[in-house]
Amino acid sequence: MTAPLLIRHATLPDGRTGIDLLAIDGRIAALAPSLHAPPGAEVIDASGWLLSPPFVDAHFHLDAALSHGLPRINDSGTLLEGIALWGELKPLLTEEAIAERALQYCDWAVARGLQAIRSHVDVCDPRLLAVRALLEVKRRVAPWLDLQLVAFPQDGLLRSPGALAQLEQALDLGVEVVGGIPHFERTMADGAESVRILCELAAARGLRVDMHCDESDDPLSRHIETLAFHAQRLRLHGRVTGSHLTSMHSMDNYYVSKLLPLIAEAGVHAVANPLINITLQGRHDHYPRRRGMTRVPELMAAGVNVAFGHDCVMDPWYALGSADMLEVAAMGLHVAQMTSVAGQRQCFDAVTVNGARILGLQGYGLEPGCRADFLLLQAGSPAEAIRLRAQRLLVVRGGTVVSRMAPAVAELALPGRPPRVDFTRQASSAAPQAAG
Ligand SMILES: [Zn+2]
Repeated sequence: MTAPLLIRHATLPDGRTGIDLLAIDGRIAALAPSLHAPPGAEVIDASGWLLSPPFVDAHFHLDAALSHGLPRINDSGTLLEGIALWGELKPLLTEEAIAERALQYCDWAVARGLQAIRSHVDVCDPRLLAVRALLEVKRRVAPWLDLQLVAFPQDGLLRSPGALAQLEQALDLGVEVVGGIPHFERTMADGAESVRILCELAAARGLRVDMHCDESDDPLSRHIETLAFHAQRLRLHGRVTGSHLTSMHSMDNYYVSKLLPLIAEAGVHAVANPLINITLQGRHDHYPRRRGMTRVPELMAAGVNVAFGHDCVMDPWYALGSADMLEVAAMGLHVAQMTSVAGQRQCFDAVTVNGARILGLQGYGLEPGCRADFLLLQAGSPAEAIRLRAQRLLVVRGGTVVSRMAPAVAELALPGRPPRVDFTRQASSAAPQAAG
């Protein structure tokens, strides 16, 4: 049993200031001003910085992460060359190498304040190497990171021989979510058929669904409509997610006005992957060149729960990234032009609470009774956290500090100017202090 932890003088995402948080036995026991410190408690002064629930990445590919350059680099930058490149790499993979890279990524993730990741794992490999490797990684990181796995038929459920049997085998081994990739099947009809098969499989097994859906610039790629239809037919309300949905960017506006209420009524969640979709989409365009991210503010306005995912870090599709969900939120904010006060806050929610709803995380949040999982960010508000990609001063899991980061502060040598700057508006540069 760990000692109680008391955080003093924090700011909350809703703007309340001067708040203390008391964690006892892994849970948030109280959240209010001026709490009494129980005997033996560790007390940390938050100095007014932002206390936040942990980041959640609702869409990632941990089996491919950190494989950039193996066996070569994606020259065209397209989704399709990335898939082909992953196909070249697959025969060279070993379970140990996948696990080692995944564990390194999980270290980065925790240090950046990520405590839950939904990762798709490729099942189009008769050996199911990646599935076995990531199930082991999931077990190892469980004390500090919730890793939820999606059985993902990367090469197409109907297009790839044996994919359905391998997908079911992955579910039997403990993978929790049914994936799909209808736009990669050979025909629109096959894509729709794959959605039906996979939704029925999930309904029969009582599992959630998360499909790569319409990740193209083709305005006639409408598998999200089929996904919403089957979600409603099979009563999977709140348990189905459409990931990417980039074709919606290019769809006819009248059609979208009919589609959005269908997605909302079916209780289907949406995940946009801003860093990846701004990079991969529009590659066949001249100018003007489409942005290729789905219609995030419009989906939100229609009542659809939308999260942002990181999708890729240093893999065949994307050479950049560092597990920073604030970088993801910043890109989403820019691409979707969500610059209003409310829009900036929605972008913060898209990398925290909205993702938690998609994963179905239990006990997530900053409320008494919730798990004592939270972050202290070097920012005064969610918008400032995004603007600065704020330092994760503390990462707390189950009431225990699992990562600390030094504040970002520059030592200035300018005559007549302050000696330190930290880029925040309130010009405070204090680190969280251990108090008496
Ligand atoms: Zn993906």
